[in-house]
Amino acid sequence: MGTNVSLEELYADATRSSLRKDGSRDYVHPADVDGRYTRIRRALFLVLVVVFAALPWIHIGGRPAVFLNIPRRQFFLFGLTFNAQDFWLAFFLLSAIGFLLITMTALLGRIWCGYACPQTVYLEGVFRRVERWLEGPRNARLKRNAGPMTFDKAWRKILKHIVFVMLCATIAHVTLSYFVSVPKLRAMMTGPPSEHPEAFVWATAITALLYINFAWFREQLCLIVCPYGRLQSLLTDQQSLVIGYDATRGEPRGRRGKRQLEQQDAESFGDCIDCHRCVVVCPTGIDIRNGLQLDCIGCSNCVDACDEIMTKVGKPKGLVRYDSLAGFEGKKRQFLRPRLAFYALLGLAGLGSATAALAFYTPFEANLLRASSAPYTVSEGSVRNTFVLHLVNKSPDARVFELSPSPHPDLEFELPTTRIRLAPLQSKRLPVSIVVPAGFVRPATRAEFAVESQGTKKRTSASVLGPSRR
Ligand code: SF4
Ligand code: SF4
Repeated sequence: MGTNVSLEELYADATRSSLRKDGSRDYVHPADVDGRYTRIRRALFLVLVVVFAALPWIHIGGRPAVFLNIPRRQFFLFGLTFNAQDFWLAFFLLSAIGFLLITMTALLGRIWCGYACPQTVYLEGVFRRVERWLEGPRNARLKRNAGPMTFDKAWRKILKHIVFVMLCATIAHVTLSYFVSVPKLRAMMTGPPSEHPEAFVWATAITALLYINFAWFREQLCLIVCPYGRLQSLLTDQQSLVIGYDATRGEPRGRRGKRQLEQQDAESFGDCIDCHRCVVVCPTGIDIRNGLQLDCIGCSNCVDACDEIMTKVGKPKGLVRYDSLAGFEGKKRQFLRPRLAFYALLGLAGLGSATAALAFYTPFEANLLRASSAPYTVSEGSVRNTFVLHLVNKSPDARVFELSPSPHPDLEFELPTTRIRLAPLQSKRLPVSIVVPAGFVRPATRAEFAVESQGTKKRTSASVLGPSRR
């Protein structure tokens, strides 16, 4: 099998086919496909949809597995409770996720887009399936769309959009339950919107956005909105795993009759029979034979479609397959490479830091803060500093806190109590006075408190201010 077309020429010819040259939209109606990757994706989509819907219902330690109470700045994640003061943890966690995503992209290309991105999961796993169920396969849809409005066309379209709106409203409400909790959401849904106007506006806006996206905008989100798709060209290289067409094996492409196939007309044709099956199954409407394109979301539909064709014509599978660009060009494959190790190292460093930070995580906060009044007052020969001991119980259980000032020869502590009980997630500010009877403060004098609860101890301290001896 020979080829007269170089890979460079093929890749240079990459064009968008769901966006016409004048910028107008060429609406994509992908055909059905089946195969090993499609089955893996379907199973994964199901798991992801179920996990997303179930998380707010699952309780760990008496709290939802994931509940983000933004107005109260309380965040419940898999049994741990965080508040606004723990936000620094998110930096390590997000860095770790970011670098691991970069590593994954450098290694496996757009695997995230094709297998786990919510846009793909819901569009391919839910909305297109409903469309297929109500409007039939691609050819029936195209034929009906091109024809006049009939009763048959009208009821299918209307029902499809009703189901779409209901699905979008369901996803919007599940999303909302992450922020308001399931019991509160239930109460909101059974009460009039006037009792919870903000939540009502959010639910309506999310439903509307989802509907516009899944009913109309669809693959355009990946093509012209999502920044990750643009970023991938920076993150991938010749050795990253991508979905591609083996032009060396497939070209020159050409349709041929059964007789030619049986004759194995190797000199005249490559393995591609130019059936366009890989094109019609593509959800972004591109032709993978034009080479690696930004618009390819790595869904693997074309791999399964072409494998099916190759099986039918008695050729080996893999004309369209997962491989590196180097592999497609017949060069040495090297999946493990230095930049990958570097990305992975950064990701693991972020993950390690987040894990270490979580290991030292305490279920309460204690901070000695200077009161907003004058820094100190002098009266009857002594200096008085006023502070506030800010206690935050971050745990979902009530806790008793023992407060003990660290003895200091120059300082007397005045506080209303040495034992305090805080309800779950309650915070309290205790007034604290620190008196220096000597009437002067030695330089660098610090007042320190130990706060202990259920075996966990925290220390907090602050500088004592006042006139110093000359
Ligand atoms: S499905 Fe395979 S044989 Fe058919 S056009 Fe695509 S690459 Fe060629
Ligand atoms: S080219 Fe293939 S892998 Fe890429 S989006 Fe289209 S069907 Fe999916």
